[in-house]
This record gives sequence, structure tokens and C-alpha cells, in this order.
Amino acid sequence: MPPPPQSDSSAATPPFRLYNTLTRSVEPFEPAEGDTVRFYSCGPTVYNPAHLGNFRTFLFADLLRRTLRLRGWKVRQVMNLTDVDDKIIRRAHEQGKTIREVTEPVTAIFHEDREYLRIERAEVYPKATDYIPQMIALVARLIEQGVAYQADDKSVYFAIDRFPPYGKLSRLDTREVRAGARVAQDDYSKENAQDFALWKAAKPEDEAAGAAWDSPWGRGRPGWHLECSAMAIDLLGETLDIHCGGVDLIFPHHEDEIAQSEAATGHTFSRFWCHGAFLLNEGAKMAKRVGNVTTVQGLREGQVSAAAVRHFVFNTHYRKELNLSEEALEASTHAVRRVGDFAERLAGATGGTQELARAADVALAEVEAALFDDLNAPNALAGLFTFITRANAELDRHGSDKSALERAREVFAHINGVLDIVPDRRIDDPELVAWVDERIAARRAARDRRDFGEADRIRAELAGRGIVIEDTPAGTKWKPDR
Ligand code: AMP
Ligand code: ZN
Repeated sequence: MPPPPQSDSSAATPPFRLYNTLTRSVEPFEPAEGDTVRFYSCGPTVYNPAHLGNFRTFLFADLLRRTLRLRGWKVRQVMNLTDVDDKIIRRAHEQGKTIREVTEPVTAIFHEDREYLRIERAEVYPKATDYIPQMIALVARLIEQGVAYQADDKSVYFAIDRFPPYGKLSRLDTREVRAGARVAQDDYSKENAQDFALWKAAKPEDEAAGAAWDSPWGRGRPGWHLECSAMAIDLLGETLDIHCGGVDLIFPHHEDEIAQSEAATGHTFSRFWCHGAFLLNEGAKMAKRVGNVTTVQGLREGQVSAAAVRHFVFNTHYRKELNLSEEALEASTHAVRRVGDFAERLAGATGGTQELARAADVALAEVEAALFDDLNAPNALAGLFTFITRANAELDRHGSDKSALERAREVFAHINGVLDIVPDRRIDDPELVAWVDERIAARRAARDRRDFGEADRIRAELAGRGIVIEDTPAGTKWKPDR
């Protein structure tokens, strides 16, 4: 991303405001220490490729990350990969695999999908199974503080009654929580039905799947909530600036993360808690269990560009539910085509007008004000499209002001550095896609007849048009080099 362009107006940068679930209000935000934001986002459970609902939440984290940088801060983002939990163990058991055999290929797909959607790489992607010693140390600390106990079933639980602030994030009355939980679960070995597992005693399935470790409490594995607390504290320190995820994580996941972390350290675990609303499909939450998921792979096959997906997601505020539909994706495809045409026109122009530079300044101020106001991406998009209309009208006048043109380019690049919605012609162009498919088939035929010289020549030919290919067990994949 280019550095913030110099603005003609001397107006100070607007304050940065963010909705905090902890206080249920939009509050001014800045990093606690220095100019680096310590940011933890709950990542995917890697037992199945993430669906577009999961990616709506990851795109929200990407928008937040890029906006924090636009504001001038540095970001240290940690996104965990949950590679040990009930669902993964069940999947491993069904397939006669270890958890690692289940999670490694899914992790690779996650990164492919992430790159396709242009989601910037976080600074660290810790895997839960690499942090078992830190998790064990955290449990030991909680037992020492008297807020955790080992039950008859050998698992270690957190005693919510011994942590009075329990419920402060979700604002659930703990008595209600308990009453509800008793109906839902029937676990008599805990002191209290709502106590949650920090460390789960190993069962034979866990051992078979390579999901059991030695601990002072016997063989076992970490509870899901514990994973995030241990990795966040290890990689970012005892107090984070921002912790985010989807709304379904508020309770119990984030409530339990707060309980474990704050009971252990005595410090605020995260200053801000930010949650993205659900992506729905025909009115129902997109979820594997409901069977209404759209995958990134599916979108790629349907030739929906990353730019269109980003536009579709950002065109609704992150705290509002968003319904997936063919029409909405189509409308976004049209919208980003307009952005792409404009990007090309701006790149090819030779001069502008004073009005063009003025329109750019106005757009920059509008877009920044929108994004800094609790990530109002829909308003930012509106500001961008107004700019495109004005700038196109100015470019029609064929002005000769080079610095005005430069200003327009700079502002456009700056705004697009956050939204990233210029479509890649190479993916959007059906003729090129057909040509690439034909060349890949020809290369496969050449390899089948062991004509490796020809196969290499075709690879080079593709590279010449900016296409990189990769041979995977599932066939040859291609993508434009970025
Ligand atoms: P999981 O892989 O189930 O741990 O989920 C990863 C992330 O996706 C979490 O932050 C969830 O809150 C989020 N998530 C799950 N389903 C949806 C959905 N339909 N819309 C938006 N976010 C979701
Ligand atoms: Zn988490």
C-alpha cells in the first residue's frame, strides 16, 4: 500500500472508532502501546474447507487489518488454525487417519482460498498442536489460582463460579446459562454443569488419531477455548488490542477465553472485542450442518472474481447480516467491472484537470471518514463510485495537468489498497480462460506421451501471459501471477 497521500486540506485525521462488543458501543480506538496494533483473529477449524460464511468473517478481519494500516498503524495479526478438536478427531476416526493427515491438506486449501480472495497474510498462523506446552502451563496456572480442578473423569475444568466476571462479554446471566446447560448436557463429573473443559482426558479414539499428549493430569488434549488463550498470550502478550471473530464465537468461545486468560494473568485479555455478522443463504446461517454452503472453489469454478466477492461482502456493513444470492453476486461483478475499466483508463490517461484532483481529495476524505467510523465499507464504496463518476467526466475533458492525474492515481491506489476490488482481467476474460484450459490440456497430453520438452514449452507460454500453473494431486491448477 502506498503511503498516505498528502492532502491539500489541512484537516486532521478523523478519530478511529470501532464497535466493542464488551461495552456494546462504538468507541475511539488506538493501540495501547506504540504504533503497533496487537490483533488476534480466531481462524478456521481445519477439518473441511472453509465456506464463504467463514470467509465473510476472514474478509472482515482483512478489512480491519488494512484499515488499521491506512490509519498509519502497524499491525501484528495472529490467526490460529485449530488443528485439534472434536470434529477433526471424528473426521480422522471416520477416515482411519491421524488428525495431521486430516488437517494438512485442508490448511493448504485454506491458504489457496485466502490468496484467491486477496486476504492479506497474517503475521503468524499458529497451529494449536504446536502450542501444547503453553496450554499445559496455562492450565497449571489456573489450578494454582484455584479456578480450575480435575474431575473424576480425569478432565480438567474451569470453575465459572470462582471467576465472578464470568458472562461480562455475552452478558448472559450465569444462572440462565447454567439452567440451559443442565438441560443440554448431562455431565455429572463436573462440579457445575456449565464448567468448561480446559484439558480433556484422552479417549482411545484420541490416541488412535494422534490427538493425545502427556500432561500432569494424565494423557489428554486441550479444549478449544484454551487453544486461543494460550497462543494469543504467547504471541501477543497478556493484553491484546483487538480480538475478533464471527458473532457465534461471543458465547461460549470468547467468554471462556476471557475467563481463562484473565483468571490466569489478572489483566484485561483484550481491550476490544469485535464480531462480524453472519452470511446467510436463503435466510439461514451458512453452515456445513445446514448443508447450504458455498465454497471458494465453487465460486472460482463459477468464474466469480475475487474482486466481485470482496465488493459483495464489503457492500454490507460487517455488523449486519448479509444474504448470498446470484443477483447480488452479479451486481457486484458489474460494479467491479466499472472499477476495472476506470483503473485502466486512469493508467492510460496522459493528463487531468484541477477538478480531477479536487474530486480525488474529496473521495479520499470521504472514504477515510467512512472506514475510520467503525469500518463503514458500504459508505467507502459509495465514495469511491462517486469519485469514478466525477473522474470519468473530467477525463472526458482531456486535460493536460500531470500532477492532477498523478493525484487521482495516488488516491485511487490508496483506496483500492484497502478494498482491493479491481478485477483481474485474466480471470474475468472468458477467452483467456478458454485458452488457458486448452493449453493445460495440451500440456497434459504432451506429458502423457512423455514429451517433456513440449510440456515445458507450454508452461513457459502460459507464464508469458502471466499465468502460473501448479500440478497438484487434484490436477493442474492455474492462477494469474500477482
Ligand atoms: P470455524 O471454522 O467453524 O471455527 O469458523 C471460523 C470462523 O467463521 C469463526 O469466526 C465463525 O464465527 C465464522 N463463521 C462461521 N459461520 C459463519 C457464517 N455463516 N457467516 C459468517 N461467519 C461465520
Ligand atoms: Zn478463538
